[in-house]
Amino acid sequence: MTYRVSIARCRTYDPNTVRSGVAAALAPLGGMGKFVETGQRVLVKPNLLSSRPPEAAVTTHPAVVQAVVEEVRRAGGVPVLGDSPGGRNTGQSYERLLRRTGMTAVAEATGCEVVSFEDATVEVQAPQAKAFRKFTVGKAVADADRVIVLPKLKTHQLTYYTGAVKVLYGYIPGLRKAEYHLHTGTDAETFSDLLLDLHSALPPTLAIMDAVVGMEGRGPSNGNPREIGLVLASDSCPALDLVACSIVGLDPAAIPTVRKAGERGIGPKDLAEVEVLGERIEEVRVPDFEKPGTMRIAKLPPFLLHAAQSLLAARPEIYPGRCIMCGKCAEGCPPGAIRWAKGQVPSIRYRHCIRCYCCQELCPQGAIEVAYPWFRRVTGG
Ligand code: SF4
Ligand code: SF4
Repeated sequence: MTYRVSIARCRTYDPNTVRSGVAAALAPLGGMGKFVETGQRVLVKPNLLSSRPPEAAVTTHPAVVQAVVEEVRRAGGVPVLGDSPGGRNTGQSYERLLRRTGMTAVAEATGCEVVSFEDATVEVQAPQAKAFRKFTVGKAVADADRVIVLPKLKTHQLTYYTGAVKVLYGYIPGLRKAEYHLHTGTDAETFSDLLLDLHSALPPTLAIMDAVVGMEGRGPSNGNPREIGLVLASDSCPALDLVACSIVGLDPAAIPTVRKAGERGIGPKDLAEVEVLGERIEEVRVPDFEKPGTMRIAKLPPFLLHAAQSLLAARPEIYPGRCIMCGKCAEGCPPGAIRWAKGQVPSIRYRHCIRCYCCQELCPQGAIEVAYPWFRRVTGG
């Protein structure tokens, strides 16, 4: 099977530039009309990982979301906008997140309905399950006639890269994500199987990636914004991820979601199985994209990996000077490894920590950094 991924240039978040970039990415795939029919309810699901402003490059930029909402409407669809960040989500916190990430402005400018995945949930079956046979997801996801995901190209401390497959984790409402993390622990392989199981349960119709400014280094929350200048589109999330990794120099074979999708026959094994449309990969490569530090020790054989993880691996550390004592990290920590009391800076009990880095993702202040234990600092390893 040949997969198709389209690459278009888009150098800035100027709204008209983004509209042109999104349209250019969709054109070789047949345009939005190929994926959306008149009257269909279309869930537009960006990556709204946490309540950060668009310039932090943590969340999908509102200009991309707005351009896609407009495309859906032009194609005759009825767009609805929603996502579920990790941790405890209340109506108030979701509203705050929508405002801070620029989604409220998109909804106001387009008249698009906004949905919350916390309001109602349903159980869905994963037909090609390897790790999880069923999932609890937002009813708004299951009810949609079409789902269009809008991932952001970023690094990730656990899965090394977060893109079109990883963004599906947002189908699972807030705190329920922690339950799944508890099952997979620190194992990026099992967590990636979970993501692909979720993909088999509810595969999106289309993925349009915001790679105008991505994130390198300590993603998905505390890395550095990195100009890439692209919008990518595909009807295959794994194929889109394979191409995006190739552009920024992340070895696709080292990214579990990409490698496993190929092995499971739900994505391309390599670029030979992908028809790249629009720009050529060689012309848009980012040669010095900074990889996540956690990727280095992942190459060790399994019998050394465990010892290396305790002595050398990165772990979350709280920087008290930046902490506002909100407790979000403790609420969202799957094994309850973070101790927190009102008015106090939390503390992490490392022997319970499964290195999922949810706390780093959830901290609104960037007060949790993934750092190296003393042994690594001393040896410079
Ligand atoms: S302390 Fe952070 S990295 Fe460790 S288990 Fe809790 S959320 Fe995950
Ligand atoms: S570390 Fe971050 S999430 Fe945790 S209490 Fe402090 S500010 Fe809140």
